[in-house]
Amino acid sequence: MNARVAVLGGGLAGITAALRCADAGLDVTLLESKNHLGGLTHSFRRGELDVDNGQHVFLRCCTSYVDLLRRLGVLDKVFLQPRLAIQVRSPRLRQPVWLRRNALPAPLHLADSVLKYRPLPVADRLKFAGAALALRGVDRESAAADGQSFADWLRRHGQSTAAIEKLWDLVGIATLNAPATGASLALAATVFQLGLLTEAGAADIGWSKVPLRELHGEPAKARLTEAGAQVLLGTKVTGLAREDGRWRITAGETELTADRVVVALPPEVAERLLPPGALSLPEGWAKRLGSSPIVNAHVVFDREVLDEPFFAAVDSPLQWVFDRTSQSGVDGGQYLAVSLSAADDLIDVPVREIRERILPALRQVVPAAATAGVRDFFVTRERTATFRPAPGSAALRPGPVTAAEGVVLAGAWTATGWPATMEGAVRSGEAAASALIASDGRPTSPHGKDIP
Ligand SMILES: Cc1cc2nc3c(=O)[nH]c(=O)nc-3n(C[C@H](O)[C@H](O)[C@H](O)COP(=O)(O)OP(=O)(O)OC[C@H]3O[C@@H](n4cnc5c(N)ncnc54)[C@H](O)[C@@H]3O)c2cc1C
Repeated sequence: MNARVAVLGGGLAGITAALRCADAGLDVTLLESKNHLGGLTHSFRRGELDVDNGQHVFLRCCTSYVDLLRRLGVLDKVFLQPRLAIQVRSPRLRQPVWLRRNALPAPLHLADSVLKYRPLPVADRLKFAGAALALRGVDRESAAADGQSFADWLRRHGQSTAAIEKLWDLVGIATLNAPATGASLALAATVFQLGLLTEAGAADIGWSKVPLRELHGEPAKARLTEAGAQVLLGTKVTGLAREDGRWRITAGETELTADRVVVALPPEVAERLLPPGALSLPEGWAKRLGSSPIVNAHVVFDREVLDEPFFAAVDSPLQWVFDRTSQSGVDGGQYLAVSLSAADDLIDVPVREIRERILPALRQVVPAAATAGVRDFFVTRERTATFRPAPGSAALRPGPVTAAEGVVLAGAWTATGWPATMEGAVRSGEAAASALIASDGRPTSPHGKDIP
């Protein structure tokens, strides 16, 4: 087979790059090892349920991701809060509190919520503003900021352990997939500057009203096919080698020759397949970059127990809890997903033990759950959900251009400036496609025919 552009990997990064190239008139073949597109955003059937591999949310500031949804024709399948409102529950509080934005411009839009934030003592609430303002001034591009731990920086700016755990980590752990103690200041500054400290509406939260496969994987396959791209599913790439001025891609029985290649694969697969010298990174960089797990505990109650679409929890092993009833198609009762980020301590724990930790904690903060029966309890685990956003990680995230002629890189783990998010993945796909399309001369086949 011949392809002008081969895209390896069909996650959001690969989908975006492939669509961009196909829309630019290039002849594209996408190779994906699984039998579906969507990568780390996928769903499966469990009896009567449609289950996502893990709850995914986006923010209003995720403009590239929203552009992709528009291109996929699925914007009507997501909900975006008109105004940020996060309900926070704690077993120590009789009533939930709210983090809501008011009508003021950032960063004043959250001031009254923080001042009324009862999980923290008043002194901590008052000290929040100083650190928030200082965080606005952090240069998120600087290596010095990347080399520091966010928690150390917060402590130096007057934040107590309680403030870090109950306020900064509430947002940070879900967006960075690391607590402040394990996160690079530069990445944390990106999240807080873009989400909370610059534009008042930036952190309004959005989520899918349908299972993820209906939002990403299935429409992506349809749109790519309509755009003239070829999508090869169940095709695991095992080799990438230069031959006669072109790239030979091996995937089991399949052999493909391409002028240009977008490598949109997880870091360890990319390191294995990229030709030596393609990146100026030390051998073993993918392992050094590392990964961080996410676990979701799924609970189907026999009745409705929660009247909010989601809440966050403090003083509790729960982090964020989402109502999944309508997306899952469950017949009666209510389906909640407990999303547990930075789940190093849970990734290998048996379901029974996770149930023993999570169910009582859920019943503490959702009183109606105390008397409800549990129809189903199961766990999904993503061991390599994201790269580890540790101090120093920026140096291990290459940009789209490689030293291998015609090979560009994409993936949420590449140098997008963002943590590993859907937005980061889409941005990386856009950057890779732009680099490929704009690269020196037009990609040329060995027969000298220019790509249109
Ligand atoms: C449980 C969970 C919850 C998350 N929550 C959020 C959230 O709320 N908000 C948010 O923005 N982000 C969230 N993320 C992160 C987000 O899903 C990822 O950052 C993003 O989907 C990564 O996309 P990608 O294309 O870079 O990588 P991937 O999705 O990993 O895509 C790589 C693709 O390459 C394929 N592949 C691997 N090896 C080969 C091979 N040899 N040959 C061919 N194909 C191969 C893989 O199957 C995969 O499809 C979450 C992730 C997880 C796991």
